[in-house]
Amino acid sequence: MNKIEVNNIIINNKNGIEYLQFKKLMEYNNIVHCYTLKHDLNFKSTSPIKNQSIEKICSTLGIDRKEYVRANQDHTNNIQIVNDIKISEDDTDALITNKKNIALATTSADCISLLMFDYEKNVIAAVHSGWRGTVKKIARDVVEKMIEVYNCNASNIICCICPSIRKCHFEVDYDVKEIFAKTFNYEGIIEKGVIRESKQKYNIDTVEINKRMIKEIGLKEENIIDSKLCTVCNSDKFHSYRKDRPNYGLNVAIIELK
Ligand SMILES: [Zn+2]
Repeated sequence: MNKIEVNNIIINNKNGIEYLQFKKLMEYNNIVHCYTLKHDLNFKSTSPIKNQSIEKICSTLGIDRKEYVRANQDHTNNIQIVNDIKISEDDTDALITNKKNIALATTSADCISLLMFDYEKNVIAAVHSGWRGTVKKIARDVVEKMIEVYNCNASNIICCICPSIRKCHFEVDYDVKEIFAKTFNYEGIIEKGVIRESKQKYNIDTVEINKRMIKEIGLKEENIIDSKLCTVCNSDKFHSYRKDRPNYGLNVAIIELK
């Protein structure tokens, strides 16, 4: 097994299966987690290698394939409490559980995946926070749900930010920029970008928005762990929607309590 350390993460290569892990979560031996790299893995529902990708990453992490639970993601802020490996098929973009042996999975290719863990109450969450989910404040809603349902304390929650599109590449037009400007009054999240085809573009820092949102409701700065990797800048390593469309693949973020 090869390991490369970058920022707050370790990139593993175990028998050709490549995935990264957050050092902070590795401190807890009742947690299994990962964010996959693209080599030989694709978790998109239409991919011919989807099932074998799930089998490969599960066996690499020591997870039973049957425990793999992924929601029907649709850029909502719907949250599902998971008590069983059979989950509802309703559209939902965040899964939370305090049960062992349920592997919560969220797929992405540029969208932000968040892995959360309350180390006192042993509650985990996998969150899909693309730009629409960010505008709907799904990350805040998940923390609130963890508090409401499991009596979690925000100051005991670790939130890991997986590789995603970053401000360097998240370029939008005026209309989307305005949605962010109206929803958030955080400073420094919107930057005037280049002019393309005589249209002014804007760069939005959705990672920073998610960080501020969860900090506001009580997460500690030191518990917000950012991989600091842009999927577009690193599209050789990660599936990237913006880089690879229309034939893009999906990476998966997984977290499980043992
Ligand atoms: Zn980038």
